[in-house]
Amino acid sequence: MPKYPMANSFSNLLSQPLAGRVVLVRVDFNVPLVDGVVSDDTRIKASLPTINALLKAEAKVVLLAHLKRPDGQVVDSLRLNPIRDSLEQLLQQSVYKLDECVGDGVQAAITGMANGQVLLLENIRFYAEEMANDASFSEQLADCADYFVQDAFGVVHRAHASTVGVAQRLPSFSGVLLETELRYLGDMVSSPARPFVAIVGGSKISTKLLVLKQLIQRVDSMVLGGAMVYTLLKAKGVPVGASLVEDSLLDEARLFLDVVDDLNKDLYLPVDHRVVQAFDQPDTLRIIDSNGFADSDIGIDIGPASVAHIETLIQSAKSVFWNGPVGVFETKAYANGTNSIAQFLAESDATTIVGGGDSIAAINQSGYADRIHHISTGGGASLEFLEGKTLPGISVLHE
Ligand code: AMP
Repeated sequence: MPKYPMANSFSNLLSQPLAGRVVLVRVDFNVPLVDGVVSDDTRIKASLPTINALLKAEAKVVLLAHLKRPDGQVVDSLRLNPIRDSLEQLLQQSVYKLDECVGDGVQAAITGMANGQVLLLENIRFYAEEMANDASFSEQLADCADYFVQDAFGVVHRAHASTVGVAQRLPSFSGVLLETELRYLGDMVSSPARPFVAIVGGSKISTKLLVLKQLIQRVDSMVLGGAMVYTLLKAKGVPVGASLVEDSLLDEARLFLDVVDDLNKDLYLPVDHRVVQAFDQPDTLRIIDSNGFADSDIGIDIGPASVAHIETLIQSAKSVFWNGPVGVFETKAYANGTNSIAQFLAESDATTIVGGGDSIAAINQSGYADRIHHISTGGGASLEFLEGKTLPGISVLHE
């Protein structure tokens, strides 16, 4: 795509003499933790090609990352120590970790680093200045390094200090992971093999409505699943029992359905559902049609007729993008629809891209991850990219 030339490519950086130079790398280590231990290291593994290449070039590698949303406060349970442990195992070398991102201690630690060493700074979202893209904070970050590498695709749709601020102040390059993401997603935006099918699930329509409006214009068919379907069904006047609905979004949902009608696009809403009487009562599970909701029914997963239709759509597709589970897949009894989609994608001849944190977990859980062409580490970022938006953390690399 002409919008994203690879002028500041990683290979350009590697062509510089990097021995002893400090390279600040923004990575996406926003991984799930269970009891203080990393439970899915997909995102950490995805950053290894960039880190290893810099280590091989004898650079001093300083890593910048966030974990969840501490909202500018120090939250002990969101320190990056468990990530350091996981990274040490994957790299098979020591990783130094500090409890800060800026200040004299950071400067001193970097000065004391040997070539080919790795330093992990603290959760950058402990600083309110990060999300505010604060100028002096960005300056302090940039001051400690010679080069900046952006490899955290998951955050490039945000204008933060560690995506835009620091990149404006240092010679900046894309990392290996970012380039892989842009290659796959870029092809899907600029010249998708058709039919192009998007499957979007998840709990909330509020976070995805804008994206859906744009994406529907680019695809040949769109399938929706997950709880967001109940907001849309309710907006159409279909009773959805006690299913999760965002009532404040009903008007917007109606407008979206009107847009789809005007565009004459193929939007598929599940025609049947697995419902329960309470989230923790899988023994109450029944299958009903969309017009069969009783007041107490909670939609928890899509039903078999919907699964069969999605299978047909995927079989005839040449490109498929999937973001978000179509049911409460974390509970095995409610994972049928989500796991089926993973299987259909694995068996499909189409170019398949799966994006987003929950989708990564779902595809890993299904056991089909190695049969997907590209698993994007960025949920929101991949959706916004497909929408055709210019992502600030990418465009800044080419300024
Ligand atoms: P999101 O963060 O919006 O992508 O949503 C992901 C979450 O949606 C997962 O944790 C799923 O458990 C949840 N989800 C999917 N389908 C449903 C549903 N029918 N009811 C409630 N939550 C759901």
